[in-house]
Amino acid sequence: MQTDARPRSHPDSSLDLSVTALPGIGEDSAKLLERIEIRTIGDLLWHLPRTYADFSKFTPLKSVRAEQEQTVEAILGRIGQRRTARGQLMTEVELLDPQDHSPTNVRATWFGRQFIKERYPEGQLVRLSGKVKFFGRSLQFSNPKMESAAAEAVHTGRIVPMYRLTEGLKEGHLRRWLHTAVMGGVKRTPVVREVADPLPEAVRTRRSLVPIQDALREVHFPSEWKDLFTARRRLAFDELLVLQLALGQRRARWTKAAKALPLAADDAKVDEWIAALPFTLTADQLEAFAQIRSDLARKVPMSRLLEGDVGSGKTVAAALAARIAVASGAQAALMAPTELLAEQHHRSLAALFAGGGPRHALLTSSVTGPARQEILAGLASGELQVIVGTHALVEETVSFKRLGLAIVDEQHRFGVRQRATFREKGLDPHLLLTTATPIPQTLSQTLYRDLDISVLHQLPSGEQSIRTEVRPHAALPKVWPWLKERVSAGEQAFIVTPRIEEDPEDDIPSAEATFRDLKAKDLAGVRIALLHGRMPPKERDDVMRRFAARELDVLVATTVVEVGIDIPNATMMVILGAERFGLAQLHQLRGRVGRRGQRAFCILVSAKAEESDRLAAMTEKKPGTDKPLDGFDLAKRDLQIRGAGEFLGKRQSGEGNELRIVDMADLDPVLLDETTVEADGILAADPQLESPEHASLERAVGELWRRYAFT
Ligand code: ADP
Ligand code: MG
Repeated sequence: MQTDARPRSHPDSSLDLSVTALPGIGEDSAKLLERIEIRTIGDLLWHLPRTYADFSKFTPLKSVRAEQEQTVEAILGRIGQRRTARGQLMTEVELLDPQDHSPTNVRATWFGRQFIKERYPEGQLVRLSGKVKFFGRSLQFSNPKMESAAAEAVHTGRIVPMYRLTEGLKEGHLRRWLHTAVMGGVKRTPVVREVADPLPEAVRTRRSLVPIQDALREVHFPSEWKDLFTARRRLAFDELLVLQLALGQRRARWTKAAKALPLAADDAKVDEWIAALPFTLTADQLEAFAQIRSDLARKVPMSRLLEGDVGSGKTVAAALAARIAVASGAQAALMAPTELLAEQHHRSLAALFAGGGPRHALLTSSVTGPARQEILAGLASGELQVIVGTHALVEETVSFKRLGLAIVDEQHRFGVRQRATFREKGLDPHLLLTTATPIPQTLSQTLYRDLDISVLHQLPSGEQSIRTEVRPHAALPKVWPWLKERVSAGEQAFIVTPRIEEDPEDDIPSAEATFRDLKAKDLAGVRIALLHGRMPPKERDDVMRRFAARELDVLVATTVVEVGIDIPNATMMVILGAERFGLAQLHQLRGRVGRRGQRAFCILVSAKAEESDRLAAMTEKKPGTDKPLDGFDLAKRDLQIRGAGEFLGKRQSGEGNELRIVDMADLDPVLLDETTVEADGILAADPQLESPEHASLERAVGELWRRYAFT
């Protein structure tokens, strides 16, 4: 998510004017800028560089080397223009030594830049920055950036900002406009001077942060690398602070409007339920349940995330929570991302509730006609106490008599937003979110700061012992016969691919081609089926159901098999194109097999040998133990290697998650602590951010809500 710590401007500020008010930007340029959401001068100022080129060090012209980016000073020699064989205009200049004007073996060429000859006379002293290549026996700058040595360094001879562009928008133009905005023009004071600092002075001083105007100037046109870091730290601070304020306020809002039903059951009853379970709860389960239980007893609605690896036993904890709700005369709803998972949960609950548990039912889109009517009536009258279904449950016109607890499985970000949906219906249920995605601490301290977290570390069934191997593509002819053997021994297998359809442009394994080829050749005679996300949900569920009923031996699938599916008899997981998956994702996929503690295999097939280092983490042991790395270790590894964007992914969030400045993967713990403390301090003194000194922060928080429909 992007925060916008953009300060509120004064009413007569240039920052709110159209970009055309800036010298150099005409109507056509304004149209191009609008395509990347830049309309006002303020928008322009907040279009931050995506990266930088270091052109700050000068190389003497005579020491220039090939295949490197370099910056030189030179005198322009003869300038020639001609058409190439393809009809392109080519400008060619000999570069002369700046000291004695002697010829060198370096020249510069540009394609299609008519203006160069018009603007730069022979004999002029210039700066050039760019990549040098061999050209026969001489050296050549191709399409370098150039400016007169007398002019201020904008495009050459400094740390040069590079910006996100859109087609038709020239980087040089955009850089020039930003330079005018932050450094000023010939007769102009820079508009950056109109930016009011959003931080209270006391915070800025306490945390030794540079003023916002300096930060903006240095982030666009850094004087030195260290100034860039200082500037980025300042902007990162603002960004995190706004995020913390937003989450803090939401939390306060949930707490203040405490309309949830307090749900409780006495110890004797709870002990009885636990004693009736077919197994003994693990210490983690007991602790998580105790936390849930104490949350439920309050009028403040619970917002708890129950996190635990696949098979860690989250469902039991959820079932016990549901029983507490029912014992208090309320209803509970359990929502799953797919119909199949809803069915699976329903079966689990039915088993756990056997022998006098709550009255429960399954509601999915396949439940129709009178059966559906009966369920809806039961929910409205309160006759039905626990309902299990897909998320459609809340989107539809289901009305509850007294919904006290909503449990959302595997879509926690979405789950938080569901609270708003419930609230619109006048409900304020306790919210229990469950996930098998391990969330690294830095994220739980920021993006998830509005949730309480319980973690199940232990696996009740003991460690799954899944032998994992990384294999090159060439090993496949040996894998298939082995897989066939396992299948004839009565076991089942998953084959997972990164793609649905094949693309002739690349050789990324696809489910369709793999299915077709295996069925025809290596796995002929095996009961095999295809499963992917573009199949209609009904068909997909049907395939899964047949697989679960052991009417199929092998599934060729995309990651749709990733979440929560429990196939007790599956012992083999072959992942093709494994290098295309995140480690945490591979871990989840692997968790689909060996679910009953039996011997199982996971084979990671990678086409890219250089990826095997990353994949090897899947076979590594936790230091000092013989246990494999768990989901947390792997998620952390992934976060380090691939960054937060990948980690959070669209699947988690349903939206772009990148902050403008802050790198979630490399979150500075000091900055995190500082912003947490400051956000708490600010909200304690001014919960609504009403004081004038918090005006820009308030605006930035508002912008965050608006953009992401946070509620
Ligand atoms: P997940 O966390 O993946 O949702 P489940 O709740 O589905 O895990 O539990 C996985 C399996 O382990 C289920 O078959 C469940 O009955 C069983 N289970 C849960 N808790 C325990 C326990 N404490 N001891 C033994 N088996 C358990
Ligand atoms: Mg589960």
